[in-house]
Amino acid sequence: MQLKASKKKTKKETETLSNKKPEKLIDKKGIRLDGRKLDELRPVKMEVGVLPNADGSAYLEQGKNKILVGVYGPKEAHPRHIAQQDRAVIQCRYHMAPFSVDERKSPAPSRRDVELSKVIREALEPAIFLEYYPKTAIQVYIEILQADGGTRCAGITAASLALADAGIPMRDLVAACAAGKADGKLIVDLMDTEDKVGEADVPVAFMPNLNAITLLQMDGGLLVDEFENAVNMAIDGCKQLYNLQKEALKSKYVAVEEDEEE
Ligand code: UDP
Repeated sequence: MQLKASKKKTKKETETLSNKKPEKLIDKKGIRLDGRKLDELRPVKMEVGVLPNADGSAYLEQGKNKILVGVYGPKEAHPRHIAQQDRAVIQCRYHMAPFSVDERKSPAPSRRDVELSKVIREALEPAIFLEYYPKTAIQVYIEILQADGGTRCAGITAASLALADAGIPMRDLVAACAAGKADGKLIVDLMDTEDKVGEADVPVAFMPNLNAITLLQMDGGLLVDEFENAVNMAIDGCKQLYNLQKEALKSKYVAVEEDEEE
């Protein structure tokens, strides 16, 4: 049995790909185009508190992805009719900068931006104690400065850090990572070429302490056992990212403590 999801490419995408489509994504030794092993994440850098004007913020690099997140709130919800009597609402905007991809992207929100804003919001909501702040809004702005595949996952990982940095009470951090299939092999943390040329992409968001998945999507085709293995590989990636998230938060507060001691 094969699980299928739409893997349609726009005409523009197909044309761009045909110019730079590699013959192989994985060599005989099981090494990927960027030198990674099948189960290896891209190099990751995370920092919190990078935007003094926002209530919380985070900057994340994952391979060539560069993502900045600013959080405001909880604050009075505007327009008022979006307010909920018993909980805070999350307003989430995922936005790709026009210079984030090699072909200039229109600065206007695309259908994809709107969809990703929704799935990212839904991936973050279960982690937040929304019921503590009725009638308020928490605003999450995710700016993709540079994109190279897996930006929805990297956006979730960074947004969760920015929410924690804003001091918003959370059940757990959310870390997100994709797994997928390229040249018939399962791989983790797909970069853009692997995402577009490969056979499948399964983005997963996960709360490691609560052992709960908050986002699960699939693009492409996988056998059922491949799907299970891909989800497990993605969860393993999330756990590695989670440790880095905790380190990023700790390093900010250790630095604050040291400043106070001086
Ligand atoms: N991308 C692009 N132009 C666009 C949208 C996406 O070049 O208008 C690239 C970008 O590198 C992105 C990748 O395609 O990271 C994969 O996009 P997808 O929709 O699968 O989301 P993601 O994998 O980033 O979560």
